Amino acid sequence: THFGYRTVNTEDKEKLVRGVFSLVASNYDVMNDAMSFGVHRLWKHHFINRLDAGMRPGALKPLDFLDVAGGTGDIAFGLLDHASKNFGDVSSTMTVADINPDMLAEGKVRYEASKWNDGSNRVTFLEQNGETMDAIPDASKDVYTIAFGIRNFTNIQAGLNTAYRVLRPGGVFACLEFSHVDNPVVDYAYQAYSFGLLPLMGQLIANDRDSYQYLVESIRRFPKQDDFSSMIKKAGFYVPEPGYENLTFGVASIHIGVKL
Ligand code: SAM
Repeated sequence: THFGYRTVNTEDKEKLVRGVFSLVASNYDVMNDAMSFGVHRLWKHHFINRLDAGMRPGALKPLDFLDVAGGTGDIAFGLLDHASKNFGDVSSTMTVADINPDMLAEGKVRYEASKWNDGSNRVTFLEQNGETMDAIPDASKDVYTIAFGIRNFTNIQAGLNTAYRVLRPGGVFACLEFSHVDNPVVDYAYQAYSFGLLPLMGQLIANDRDSYQYLVESIRRFPKQDDFSSMIKKAGFYVPEPGYENLTFGVASIHIGVKL
Protein backbone atom coordinates (compact mmCIF):
# COMPACT_ATOMS: atom_id res chain seq x y z
CA THR A 1 0.00 0.00 0.00
CA HIS A 2 0.87 3.59 -0.53
CA PHE A 3 -0.28 6.08 2.13
CA GLY A 4 -2.81 3.46 3.11
CA TYR A 5 -4.27 3.17 -0.37
CA ARG A 6 -4.10 0.30 -2.74
CA THR A 7 -1.55 1.18 -5.41
CA VAL A 8 -3.08 0.90 -8.86
CA ASN A 9 -1.03 0.97 -12.03
CA THR A 10 -1.87 3.35 -14.85
CA GLU A 11 -3.83 0.94 -16.97
CA ASP A 12 -5.86 -0.22 -13.98
CA LYS A 13 -6.66 3.31 -12.92
CA GLU A 14 -7.84 4.17 -16.44
CA LYS A 15 -10.07 1.11 -16.48
CA LEU A 16 -11.37 1.88 -13.02
CA VAL A 17 -12.23 5.47 -13.94
CA ARG A 18 -13.89 4.35 -17.17
CA GLY A 19 -15.96 1.83 -15.26
CA VAL A 20 -17.04 4.30 -12.61
CA PHE A 21 -18.26 6.88 -15.12
CA SER A 22 -19.88 4.33 -17.42
CA LEU A 23 -21.86 3.14 -14.44
CA VAL A 24 -22.93 6.58 -13.33
CA ALA A 25 -23.44 8.25 -16.75
CA SER A 26 -27.21 8.00 -16.72
CA ASN A 27 -27.85 8.96 -13.09
CA TYR A 28 -25.01 11.38 -13.01
CA ASP A 29 -27.02 14.40 -11.84
CA VAL A 30 -28.62 12.42 -9.06
CA MET A 31 -25.17 11.41 -7.87
CA ASN A 32 -23.82 14.94 -7.98
CA ASP A 33 -26.81 16.38 -6.20
CA ALA A 34 -26.65 13.71 -3.55
CA MET A 35 -22.95 14.20 -3.00
CA SER A 36 -23.07 17.94 -2.66
CA PHE A 37 -26.68 18.58 -1.60
CA GLY A 38 -27.14 20.41 -4.89
CA VAL A 39 -24.34 22.85 -4.10
CA HIS A 40 -22.34 21.74 -7.16
CA ARG A 41 -24.85 23.67 -9.26
CA LEU A 42 -24.04 26.88 -7.38
CA TRP A 43 -20.31 26.21 -7.67
CA LYS A 44 -20.58 25.68 -11.42
CA HIS A 45 -22.63 28.83 -11.78
CA HIS A 46 -20.04 30.80 -9.82
CA PHE A 47 -17.20 29.25 -11.82
CA ILE A 48 -18.77 30.33 -15.11
CA ASN A 49 -19.51 33.86 -13.86
CA ARG A 50 -16.06 34.24 -12.38
CA LEU A 51 -14.47 33.23 -15.69
CA ASP A 52 -16.76 35.66 -17.54
CA ALA A 53 -15.61 34.36 -20.93
CA GLY A 54 -17.02 35.26 -24.32
CA MET A 55 -16.27 37.26 -27.43
CA ARG A 56 -16.64 40.94 -26.50
CA PRO A 57 -18.66 43.14 -28.87
CA GLY A 58 -16.30 44.53 -31.50
CA ALA A 59 -13.76 41.75 -31.06
CA LEU A 60 -12.22 40.50 -34.28
CA LYS A 61 -12.52 36.75 -33.79
CA PRO A 62 -14.77 34.33 -31.95
CA LEU A 63 -13.20 32.28 -29.16
CA ASP A 64 -12.43 28.59 -29.17
CA PHE A 65 -13.54 26.95 -25.94
CA LEU A 66 -12.40 23.54 -24.81
CA ASP A 67 -14.19 21.84 -21.92
CA VAL A 68 -12.21 18.82 -20.82
CA ALA A 69 -13.76 15.93 -18.89
CA GLY A 70 -16.88 17.71 -20.08
CA GLY A 71 -19.06 14.66 -19.52
CA THR A 72 -22.66 15.59 -19.84
CA GLY A 73 -21.99 19.14 -21.03
CA ASP A 74 -23.04 21.12 -17.94
CA ILE A 75 -20.10 23.48 -18.04
CA ALA A 76 -19.96 23.71 -21.84
CA PHE A 77 -23.60 24.76 -22.20
CA GLY A 78 -23.29 27.09 -19.20
CA LEU A 79 -20.30 28.84 -20.78
CA LEU A 80 -22.10 29.27 -24.12
CA ASP A 81 -25.14 30.63 -22.31
CA HIS A 82 -23.05 33.12 -20.37
CA ALA A 83 -21.25 34.30 -23.52
CA SER A 84 -24.47 34.77 -25.44
CA LYS A 85 -26.39 36.50 -22.61
CA ASN A 86 -23.61 38.82 -21.49
CA PHE A 87 -21.81 39.63 -24.73
CA GLY A 88 -24.19 38.59 -27.49
CA ASP A 89 -21.55 36.06 -28.47
CA VAL A 90 -23.25 33.49 -30.69
CA SER A 91 -20.24 32.45 -32.73
CA SER A 92 -17.54 31.14 -30.39
CA THR A 93 -16.97 27.40 -30.72
CA MET A 94 -17.06 24.72 -28.03
CA THR A 95 -15.29 21.38 -27.96
CA VAL A 96 -16.41 18.97 -25.26
CA ALA A 97 -13.71 16.36 -24.67
CA ASP A 98 -14.05 13.33 -22.44
CA ILE A 99 -12.34 9.97 -22.20
CA ASN A 100 -15.60 8.15 -21.63
CA PRO A 101 -17.91 7.45 -24.61
CA ASP A 102 -20.91 6.85 -22.32
CA MET A 103 -20.57 10.28 -20.70
CA LEU A 104 -20.17 11.85 -24.17
CA ALA A 105 -23.23 10.00 -25.43
CA GLU A 106 -25.23 11.43 -22.52
CA GLY A 107 -23.85 14.88 -23.36
CA LYS A 108 -24.86 14.49 -27.02
CA VAL A 109 -28.40 13.52 -26.06
CA ARG A 110 -28.68 16.66 -23.94
CA TYR A 111 -27.14 18.75 -26.71
CA GLU A 112 -29.61 17.50 -29.29
CA ALA A 113 -32.51 18.50 -27.06
CA SER A 114 -30.99 21.91 -26.29
CA LYS A 115 -31.12 25.28 -27.99
CA TRP A 116 -27.47 24.87 -28.95
CA ASN A 117 -28.49 22.32 -31.54
CA ASP A 118 -29.37 25.18 -33.91
CA GLY A 119 -27.64 24.04 -37.08
CA SER A 120 -24.59 26.24 -36.49
CA ASN A 121 -22.42 23.25 -35.53
CA ARG A 122 -20.54 25.25 -32.95
CA VAL A 123 -20.41 22.35 -30.51
CA THR A 124 -18.21 19.29 -31.09
CA PHE A 125 -17.92 16.17 -28.94
CA LEU A 126 -14.57 14.45 -28.90
CA GLU A 127 -13.39 11.27 -27.21
CA GLN A 128 -9.98 12.16 -25.84
CA ASN A 129 -7.71 11.50 -22.93
CA GLY A 130 -7.09 14.86 -21.28
CA GLU A 131 -3.54 13.87 -20.48
CA THR A 132 -2.52 13.87 -24.14
CA MET A 133 -5.32 15.34 -26.31
CA ASP A 134 -3.78 13.99 -29.50
CA ALA A 135 -6.56 15.40 -31.68
CA ILE A 136 -6.15 18.98 -30.42
CA PRO A 137 -3.37 20.99 -32.14
CA ASP A 138 -0.93 23.18 -30.21
CA ALA A 139 -2.03 26.75 -29.47
CA SER A 140 -5.52 26.28 -30.88
CA LYS A 141 -7.81 27.16 -27.94
CA ASP A 142 -8.57 30.33 -26.00
CA VAL A 143 -10.32 28.96 -22.93
CA TYR A 144 -9.67 25.58 -21.30
CA THR A 145 -12.11 24.54 -18.59
CA ILE A 146 -12.21 21.41 -16.51
CA ALA A 147 -14.73 20.80 -13.74
CA PHE A 148 -14.55 17.83 -11.39
CA GLY A 149 -12.43 16.00 -13.93
CA ILE A 150 -8.73 16.44 -13.33
CA ARG A 151 -8.60 14.47 -10.10
CA ASN A 152 -9.49 11.40 -12.17
CA PHE A 153 -6.40 11.78 -14.35
CA THR A 154 -3.68 9.21 -13.79
CA ASN A 155 -1.04 11.84 -14.43
CA ILE A 156 -2.35 15.25 -13.40
CA GLN A 157 0.85 17.10 -14.34
CA ALA A 158 0.64 15.65 -17.87
CA GLY A 159 -2.91 16.99 -18.06
CA LEU A 160 -1.76 20.47 -17.01
CA ASN A 161 1.13 20.42 -19.47
CA THR A 162 -1.31 19.47 -22.20
CA ALA A 163 -3.64 22.31 -21.19
CA TYR A 164 -0.70 24.68 -21.63
CA ARG A 165 0.15 23.15 -24.99
CA VAL A 166 -3.31 23.49 -26.54
CA LEU A 167 -3.92 27.08 -25.37
CA ARG A 168 -2.97 30.11 -27.42
CA PRO A 169 -0.83 32.80 -25.78
CA GLY A 170 -3.25 34.84 -23.70
CA GLY A 171 -5.42 31.77 -23.22
CA VAL A 172 -6.94 30.94 -19.85
CA PHE A 173 -6.95 27.66 -17.93
CA ALA A 174 -9.72 27.32 -15.34
CA CYS A 175 -10.30 24.37 -13.08
CA LEU A 176 -13.12 23.64 -10.64
CA GLU A 177 -12.41 20.64 -8.46
CA PHE A 178 -13.16 19.10 -5.10
CA SER A 179 -10.45 20.22 -2.75
CA HIS A 180 -9.43 20.32 0.90
CA VAL A 181 -11.35 21.95 3.73
CA ASP A 182 -9.35 24.62 5.54
CA ASN A 183 -11.34 24.68 8.78
CA PRO A 184 -10.73 21.82 11.29
CA VAL A 185 -14.27 21.76 12.65
CA VAL A 186 -15.87 21.76 9.21
CA ASP A 187 -13.31 19.22 8.06
CA TYR A 188 -14.24 16.85 10.85
CA ALA A 189 -17.88 16.92 9.79
CA TYR A 190 -16.94 16.69 6.12
CA GLN A 191 -14.71 13.64 6.64
CA ALA A 192 -17.38 11.92 8.68
CA TYR A 193 -19.88 12.60 5.93
CA SER A 194 -17.70 11.56 3.04
CA PHE A 195 -16.26 8.41 4.55
CA GLY A 196 -19.35 7.30 6.42
CA LEU A 197 -22.56 8.56 4.97
CA LEU A 198 -21.64 9.11 1.34
CA PRO A 199 -20.77 5.51 0.38
CA LEU A 200 -23.97 4.44 2.14
CA MET A 201 -25.95 6.98 0.11
CA GLY A 202 -24.26 5.60 -3.01
CA GLN A 203 -25.44 2.18 -2.04
CA LEU A 204 -29.00 3.31 -1.44
CA ILE A 205 -29.43 5.76 -4.33
CA ALA A 206 -27.50 4.03 -7.06
CA ASN A 207 -26.90 0.58 -5.59
CA ASP A 208 -23.26 1.30 -6.28
CA ARG A 209 -21.17 1.71 -3.16
CA ASP A 210 -17.82 1.19 -4.89
CA SER A 211 -18.13 4.11 -7.34
CA TYR A 212 -18.93 6.48 -4.49
CA GLN A 213 -16.10 5.05 -2.44
CA TYR A 214 -13.78 5.69 -5.38
CA LEU A 215 -14.97 9.29 -5.64
CA VAL A 216 -14.32 9.94 -1.95
CA GLU A 217 -10.82 8.51 -2.17
CA SER A 218 -10.01 10.39 -5.37
CA ILE A 219 -10.93 13.62 -3.59
CA ARG A 220 -8.77 12.80 -0.60
CA ARG A 221 -5.78 11.94 -2.76
CA PHE A 222 -6.02 15.10 -4.86
CA PRO A 223 -3.25 17.67 -4.13
CA LYS A 224 -3.91 20.45 -1.61
CA GLN A 225 -4.78 23.88 -3.05
CA ASP A 226 -1.22 25.26 -2.81
CA ASP A 227 0.36 22.14 -4.25
CA PHE A 228 -2.04 22.11 -7.16
CA SER A 229 -1.30 25.77 -7.74
CA SER A 230 2.43 24.94 -7.92
CA MET A 231 1.72 22.23 -10.48
CA ILE A 232 -0.15 24.75 -12.65
CA LYS A 233 2.86 27.09 -12.47
CA LYS A 234 5.15 24.19 -13.28
CA ALA A 235 3.18 23.58 -16.49
CA GLY A 236 4.16 27.13 -17.51
CA PHE A 237 1.11 29.15 -16.49
CA TYR A 238 1.09 32.51 -14.79
CA VAL A 239 -1.10 32.11 -11.71
CA PRO A 240 -2.63 35.34 -10.38
CA GLU A 241 -2.44 35.76 -6.57
CA PRO A 242 -3.66 34.33 -4.23
CA GLY A 243 -3.52 31.28 -6.50
CA TYR A 244 -6.97 29.85 -5.87
CA GLU A 245 -10.44 30.52 -4.56
CA ASN A 246 -12.04 28.26 -1.99
CA LEU A 247 -15.73 27.48 -2.26
CA THR A 248 -17.65 26.27 0.78
CA PHE A 249 -14.60 26.17 3.11
CA GLY A 250 -12.51 24.48 0.42
CA VAL A 251 -14.85 21.57 -0.25
CA ALA A 252 -14.24 22.76 -3.81
CA SER A 253 -11.81 25.29 -5.21
CA ILE A 254 -11.18 27.25 -8.40
CA HIS A 255 -7.71 27.53 -9.89
CA ILE A 256 -6.92 29.85 -12.78
CA GLY A 257 -3.79 30.06 -14.92
CA VAL A 258 -2.92 32.28 -17.86
CA LYS A 259 -0.63 31.29 -20.73
CA LEU A 260 1.43 34.43 -21.25
N1 SAM B 1 -17.37 18.32 -16.11
C1 SAM B 1 -18.57 17.54 -15.86
C2 SAM B 1 -19.35 18.15 -14.71
O1 SAM B 1 -18.80 18.98 -13.99
O2 SAM B 1 -20.52 17.79 -14.55
C3 SAM B 1 -18.25 16.06 -15.62
C4 SAM B 1 -17.41 15.71 -14.40
S1 SAM B 1 -17.33 13.99 -14.07
C5 SAM B 1 -17.31 13.97 -12.30
C6 SAM B 1 -15.70 13.54 -14.46
C7 SAM B 1 -15.47 13.26 -15.93
O3 SAM B 1 -14.06 13.12 -16.14
C8 SAM B 1 -16.09 11.97 -16.45
O4 SAM B 1 -16.95 12.29 -17.51
C9 SAM B 1 -14.91 11.15 -16.88
O5 SAM B 1 -15.17 10.32 -17.99
C10 SAM B 1 -13.89 12.21 -17.21
N2 SAM B 1 -12.49 11.79 -17.23
C11 SAM B 1 -11.84 11.01 -16.35
N3 SAM B 1 -10.56 10.84 -16.70
C12 SAM B 1 -10.37 11.53 -17.84
C13 SAM B 1 -9.25 11.74 -18.71
N4 SAM B 1 -8.07 11.20 -18.45
N5 SAM B 1 -9.43 12.52 -19.80
C14 SAM B 1 -10.64 13.07 -20.07
N6 SAM B 1 -11.72 12.91 -19.29
C15 SAM B 1 -11.60 12.14 -18.20
